Amino acid sequence: MAAQHSPEDRFNTGEAHSARVYDYILGGKDNYEVDQEAGDSMCREWPALPVHMRANREFMHRSARYLAREKGIRQFLDIGTGLPTSPNVHEIVQEVSADSRVVYVDNDPIVLAHARALLTSAPEGRTAYIDADMRDPDAIIGSPQFQELLDLREPVGLMIIGILHFILKDDDDHGLVQRLLEPLPAGSYLAMTIGTADFAPAEVGRVAAEYARRGMPMQLRTHAEAEEFFAGLELIEPGVTQVHHWRPDADQVPMDDRDIAMYGAIARKP
Ligand code: SAH
Repeated sequence: MAAQHSPEDRFNTGEAHSARVYDYILGGKDNYEVDQEAGDSMCREWPALPVHMRANREFMHRSARYLAREKGIRQFLDIGTGLPTSPNVHEIVQEVSADSRVVYVDNDPIVLAHARALLTSAPEGRTAYIDADMRDPDAIIGSPQFQELLDLREPVGLMIIGILHFILKDDDDHGLVQRLLEPLPAGSYLAMTIGTADFAPAEVGRVAAEYARRGMPMQLRTHAEAEEFFAGLELIEPGVTQVHHWRPDADQVPMDDRDIAMYGAIARKP
C-alpha cells in the first residue's frame, strides 16, 4: 500500500507543470511533451519569455552569492526550488563557504524525484529536501529537515524566487511570507522575486492566460504590491527593482526592460 504514495504516483505526464515548463524554456531535459507544447505556445505569445526566465535565474545566483559573501549567511531555506539546474543554491553558497546548509522545498513530485541531485552537498555542509507546499508553511517549519538543518540562533537566508506568482492573493500571500519569516532570527534575510505585468502588460497577460488555461493560475503584482511584501523589513539597496537592475554583474548582457516581468529585492529582518 505504501507504493500508492510513492512520488511516481503523483507524476501526471498529461498535464504541464510549472517546474517542467521553466526547465524546458531554460533548455533543460527534465520535461515532457505536454510541457514542451505549453512552453512553445507561451513563447509564441511572448518571445522574450526565455530572456525573462534566465534573468530570474540569474537573480537567484546573485542574491544567494550576495547573502553568502557580503552578509555571511551560512544557512538557507529555498522555497520553490525547481528542477536541479547547476548551479543550485547550495553550489553557489558552498563555493563561498563549504559548511553552508540549504533546505530545499518544492511541491512538484518531479522535483522530489530529482532531489537526490540536490543533495550532493560539500562534505562540510548539508542539504535537505522537503516535499511541501508553500501554502502550508507549518508543514515546512514543523518538518524534521527544517528543525535539524537550520540553527535558529543564527540568521537564515529565506529565498522565495520565481514562485510568488503561483501564490494568489486568496492564498493569503502576505500571511504565508510572514509565517515563513516568523521563526527566523533578527538579521535573517528575505530574497524574493515577484512577477509583474508592469512592463509588457499585453504579452505577459497572454502568458498568464496560457498558464491559467493549464491549471496554473498566476498572480501578477504592481511595483507597489511587490514593495508591500517588505513592509517592516529593511530593504537592501537598490530596493525593489526589475531583477536585471538589482546589482547586475559587470558582464551582464544588456536587457530591455520590456522583456523582464520580474521584480526582485533582498531585505533584512530587523
Ligand atoms: N526558484 C527556482 C525555480 C523557480 S520555478 C528559480 O528561481 O530558478 C517555480 C518552482 O516553484 C517550481 O519548481 C514549482 O514546482 C514550485 N512551486 C510552485 N507552486 C508551489 C507551491 N505552492 N509550493 C511549493 N512549490 C511550488
